Amino acid sequence: MAKNIQAIRGMRDILPDETPRWQWLEQQVREVLASYGYQEIRMPVLEMTELFKRSIGEVTDIVEKEMYTFADRNGDSLTLRPEGTAGCVRAALEHGLLHNQTQRLWYQGPMFRHERPQKGRYRQFHQIGVESYGMPGPDIDLETILISARLWQVLGIPDLELQINTLGTAEERAGYRDRLVAYFEAHAEQLDADSQRRLHSNPLRILDTKNPEMKELVAAAPSLFDHVGDETRAHFQSICDGLDQVGVAYVINPRLVRGLDYYSRTVFEWITDRLGAQGTVCAGGRYDGLVTQLGGRATPAVGFALGLERLVAILEDVHGSQAVDQADAYLVLVGEAAQAQGAVLAEQLRSEVPGLRLLSNCGGGSFKAQFKRADRSGAMLALVLGDDELGRGEIGIKPLREAGRQHSIALPALAGFLKEQLSR
Ligand code: ATP
Ligand code: MG
Repeated sequence: MAKNIQAIRGMRDILPDETPRWQWLEQQVREVLASYGYQEIRMPVLEMTELFKRSIGEVTDIVEKEMYTFADRNGDSLTLRPEGTAGCVRAALEHGLLHNQTQRLWYQGPMFRHERPQKGRYRQFHQIGVESYGMPGPDIDLETILISARLWQVLGIPDLELQINTLGTAEERAGYRDRLVAYFEAHAEQLDADSQRRLHSNPLRILDTKNPEMKELVAAAPSLFDHVGDETRAHFQSICDGLDQVGVAYVINPRLVRGLDYYSRTVFEWITDRLGAQGTVCAGGRYDGLVTQLGGRATPAVGFALGLERLVAILEDVHGSQAVDQADAYLVLVGEAAQAQGAVLAEQLRSEVPGLRLLSNCGGGSFKAQFKRADRSGAMLALVLGDDELGRGEIGIKPLREAGRQHSIALPALAGFLKEQLSR
């Protein structure tokens, strides 16, 4: 026999006992985003490779070594999206959503990066992203951070740490960059290979290194905060004040630089120590330069992205795993006449009892076999239709989760009975 084909490394199946948790999470996030007036946008998972090169930047982990890029049948270079911001800006520009108006948008879906798979790090993973456009002031930065803070509250996740920093404007960074390069050049022998490569192309990224051997060198590097002007300081201070007033705790981390090149001024991350090395569950900031970089008019922009795999892992850690029932009732059908009647009865019940989750037995089987399936489904009730019951115009009701004898009721009374059961 041929060997079974397996899923691609780093790409996971989310199985039926996990999906209820995902659905719950997605639902909570959707409700919170709606409460702030954000609207959903859905972009394709494939984009022109050029889009990511121009937005994320050539000298980044993502573009250098993580993208799933291929030539399609026309020879166009396409890439499975590694993140959603670039596509969101592309779509907003393409459809004129940024012209003389503000936008508050969100999206969700799979992202693809060819990284080394490990706990909390996959090659297909899922994000929910939030992006807003056209608002230059610190109020929208604050709102963006507050959305994320509210999410943890609604999800019942108690102990995430908010880290924030400012990266200044592009001009402010340019001055700082020279200082930073000079500092690292003076310590060139301590730089690892990645950092040496980045020294002249993207020195700020060295601050973002994950290499523990570089930690000390990075900690002693000149601070960007000393190089930013009054406006950037005031912008940052206003966000800090807002967080204080609303009562959201934060830590200012002057070493926090986001992995992507397009950020300006505000950057923030929510971090946990529940997940080992993969501790960032949400990351974002302001990216005022990106829209022009992609050919649009200068447009202020702020956003964040949540890593859903990491959030689901935290939810499991905090709340434990809970089994979710598949159905409220299981329709047991024994005998030819009853089986022939099964679909009609089940359809009628689904129409008449709003919200009823009814599993109808398919594939026959003895009473015993069907009751076993009913039990496994987690249903509260088995509805038992045999040819005898059918002949009398009745149906048997057997409680599966609590004590109680099987009894029969008239078929026309069944829908009413189930409504009452569901509202208990
Ligand atoms: P990291 O530093 O962990 O590599 P990143 O800076 O590359 O993260 P972003 O591009 O900011 O991540 O993506 C936002 C969020 O998406 C991350 O904070 C994380 O929760 C999640 N994420 C990123 N890459 C992966 C991945 N390969 N697998 C699972 N989740 C991921
Ligand atoms: Mg990464």
